[in-house]
Amino acid sequence: MDFDTIAAISTPPGEGAIAIIRLSGDEAIQIADRIFYAKKRLNEAESHTIHYGHIKENNEVIEEVMVSVMRAPRTFTREDVVEINCHGGIVSVNRVLQLLLRTGARLAEPGEFTKRAFLNGRIDLSQAEAVMDLIRAKTDRAMGVALRQMDGNLSRLIRNLRQEILDALAQVEVNIDYPEYDDVEEMTQQMLLEKTRLVKASVEQLLQTAQQGKILREGLATAIIGRPNVGKSSLLNQLIQEDKAIVTDIAGTTRDIIEEYVNVRGVPLRLIDTAGIRETEDIVEKIGVERSRKALSEADFILLVLNQHEPLTKEDYALFEAASGQQFVVVLNKTDLEREMDLEEVYRLAGDHPVVLTSMVEEQGAIQLEEAIKKMFFEGEIDAGDATYVSNVRHIALLHQAQEALDAVISGVDMGMPVDIVQIDMTRAWDLLGEITGDSVQDELLDQLFNQFCLGK
Ligand code: GDP
Repeated sequence: MDFDTIAAISTPPGEGAIAIIRLSGDEAIQIADRIFYAKKRLNEAESHTIHYGHIKENNEVIEEVMVSVMRAPRTFTREDVVEINCHGGIVSVNRVLQLLLRTGARLAEPGEFTKRAFLNGRIDLSQAEAVMDLIRAKTDRAMGVALRQMDGNLSRLIRNLRQEILDALAQVEVNIDYPEYDDVEEMTQQMLLEKTRLVKASVEQLLQTAQQGKILREGLATAIIGRPNVGKSSLLNQLIQEDKAIVTDIAGTTRDIIEEYVNVRGVPLRLIDTAGIRETEDIVEKIGVERSRKALSEADFILLVLNQHEPLTKEDYALFEAASGQQFVVVLNKTDLEREMDLEEVYRLAGDHPVVLTSMVEEQGAIQLEEAIKKMFFEGEIDAGDATYVSNVRHIALLHQAQEALDAVISGVDMGMPVDIVQIDMTRAWDLLGEITGDSVQDELLDQLFNQFCLGK
């Protein structure tokens, strides 16, 4: 395909040791040559080589750079790609970019590099989305899921399913063409049913991974609740210490919220409002307040901490009530001290939810807690490290729709509908699955998807 040449800063904004400006398009090399000064012209350079030199504007050196030249088609976009490694601050990098824009390049839209990779057939849509997931991945596992998706694992699976559907549809055509055999209709229906059930089972299997996939991708929103001094901060610190939590700043809200991610045996916990837990001792007072109830209801998972050195209080009961209906683990802390709490009552309140005995000062119970958390969310399946997970919301929605279409096929056959009517639902399932890989997809959707990318990707 024929595209103009795009340019963007591909590294995160702000101060860094190096910044990379990426150019892609037919004229990428020529445009870079117009501002790059070195012994050799980039135009004469071999593909996949790197060159030292200077960027000049009106004969003045503005940057000292290393420039990589990569010729189509062995590049990310399948176009000619030039990457300029600058080592200056924001100002000089921006100056180089501006210069490129004045010498023939156009500023890339967010995600446009990846979009080109897709349009030029290098990757399919689910792989392109994986690129985005990879950028946003917050845990090793999330990264693993994205990497495998980028690898085309999911695409292969989906393509196989589509092939099955296509085979079935072809078979239907053939049978319709030879109506002279008596039992042809029955045979066709039988075959359709079998194939549809098969494909549906695979779709359902994929959907079963969706919840785990979502957890892997986004982390479980986790709240630590408990009365003052029961050991919430100690628990938080222990979790963080064990794992060297990844701390991210999310700016743009009224105050910066610090989110901490800890990886508990492969379960990424996104600890919400931990700052609040650290600072306010009045969480119990607030528990009755609608706002804090809302915060709790947004949690996917709750760690309810009790101090077993004291009897249960009415605040503790309130906490159980607030947590009810959610996934939670009871952490019965301070087991190094004498027990004053009615354990039977705690187990009664906990119901089916696990109760773990811990002593933060003696570092007891951490392993049991981790086990309980892992068991709650992954039941061992997570160890199958190379499983294909569906984690993307769009993919999940499409799989659900495909599942419905397949259901319609099954009930259509059951009700004895004519085959050509059933065919319509089968074709719909085929189309819906195709949207996952981008084999059947509309331009609008594409634009919307790629716009979610960061600039320069
Ligand atoms: P928070 O108010 O719920 O965050 O509680 P902290 O984690 O700040 O702990 C309150 C106090 O209890 C601190 O002095 C801790 O050292 C102490 N503490 C925490 N866990 C334990 C434990 O398991 N045993 C004992 N004896 N003290 C603990």
